[in-house]
Amino acid sequence: LTTLAATDVAAWIRRACALVTEQADYLTALDAAIGDADHGANMKRGLTAAVEALGAEPDSPAAVLKQTAMALISKVGGAAGPLYGTFFLRMSTACAKHETIDTAALVDAVEAGIGGIVQRGNAEAGDKTMLDAWYPALEALRADTDGAFAAAVNAAADAAAAGRDATEPMLAKKGRASYLGERSVGHIDPGAASTALIMRALADVVSG
Ligand code: ADP
Ligand code: MG
Ligand code: MG
Repeated sequence: LTTLAATDVAAWIRRACALVTEQADYLTALDAAIGDADHGANMKRGLTAAVEALGAEPDSPAAVLKQTAMALISKVGGAAGPLYGTFFLRMSTACAKHETIDTAALVDAVEAGIGGIVQRGNAEAGDKTMLDAWYPALEALRADTDGAFAAAVNAAADAAAAGRDATEPMLAKKGRASYLGERSVGHIDPGAASTALIMRALADVVSG
């Protein structure tokens, strides 16, 4: 694909649900180490509800993103639900005028989504949260705006995965893991891992 139409955004949400469902035990194991062992179940429940909310013929990218946000906010308890919900809601607002999303529009939408996570959760880069996967993904997208759409999205997915891995030595400053202090060091952040899956899902859809 060279841009994302509404049906492609819907395919993204379906693929994200499939990957998160496949990896739910892994996400939960990460959360068991530094949280309360529910991240896999939370994300699986939320994205399953998001997939159920998808219509047969989605109106626009913004409509799909908004439905997804609402499903995540209402179905996911805990920190990740409102944070991911806000991410998709801000993405939706940023895409309001677009029939299809190209690289520049995706950069704007992901940037807006990240802004929502920051506004809600007050975390910074290096605090060992999902932001440590989102920021590198955004940077990679931005670096590749002249290149092909698929290359940019694949680079962003790779960057999110590298960001996930880079959370391992970090000391958690936000969320449940921060209660552990030094004992949070040496574990990958579950939210950064789910963000990497969500970006991989987008790359899978774009690459066919
Ligand atoms: P809970 O911690 O309430 O059980 P989850 O386990 O579903 O919720 O999600 C935990 C993840 O949420 C963390 O791994 C982290 O990535 C993310 N998170 C928690 N607090 C924040 C925050 N303030 N800003 C950004 N992300 C956060
Ligand atoms: Mg948890
Ligand atoms: Mg919880």
